[in-house]
Amino acid sequence: MEVREILRNNLERITSQIADACRAAHRDPAEVRLVAVTKTVSSEVAALLTELGVCDLGESRPQELWRKAAAIPQARWHLVGHLQRNKVERTLPLVTLIHSVDSWRLLAAIEAAAQKINRIADVLLEFNLSGEPAKHGFVPEQEAEVPDVLAGLHYVRVRGLMTLAPLGTDHESARPTFAALRHLRDRLALRLAGTPHTLHHLSMGMSNDFRGAIQEGATLIRIGTALFAGLSDAHATTA
Ligand SMILES: *Cc1c(COP(=O)(O)O)cnc(C)c1O
Repeated sequence: MEVREILRNNLERITSQIADACRAAHRDPAEVRLVAVTKTVSSEVAALLTELGVCDLGESRPQELWRKAAAIPQARWHLVGHLQRNKVERTLPLVTLIHSVDSWRLLAAIEAAAQKINRIADVLLEFNLSGEPAKHGFVPEQEAEVPDVLAGLHYVRVRGLMTLAPLGTDHESARPTFAALRHLRDRLALRLAGTPHTLHHLSMGMSNDFRGAIQEGATLIRIGTALFAGLSDAHATTA
């Protein structure tokens, strides 16, 4: 099968799984946006996705995002992985949303870079709710710090929260983590009412657990593996 056909089939399957999960959760599929995480494939394959109507593409490494965003400027780019502070200035103009703000020092660097180019920076705060030390993200206890930190920002808008499920979980077993992120968001949204930080988005759910994430309120699901199933190694990223 041709690459485009494989992608089209995978996309059709995932789209109908999203629709089923939305139906089960009494949600409108228009509330759930698919972010295609292209870190394992070439720019050529990623560009095919935009031709198939997937406009939101994500990368976990800033350098790879710079490379692919230059090749596919028509996409809306999302950074979903760890961002080092010395890469903020170069990354910010290329992205529509940074999902992975995981420290107050990084948030301050984004504020400074956004001020410099006189632009609003939309971000999500990443929380590590699984307690796994290998994961980035704020720990749950840092919830209390959020309102004071955000009060000092003028160029950053926090649009919501992001998390990764614990390793080895599936659609069902990941749900408590996703529910915990939603509860955290609901509490913070109350405390931030009246500020520019709306916390609308919940970025949660990947290939193995997106149906559970939709059940728990995900608005952005980040999918890689399931989209590219069946492609040969020849289409892998050359980075
Ligand atoms: C790779 C990656 C994804 C996509 O994961 P799949 O299991 O391949 O769907 C989602 N989010 C982040 C942060 C990633 O690094």
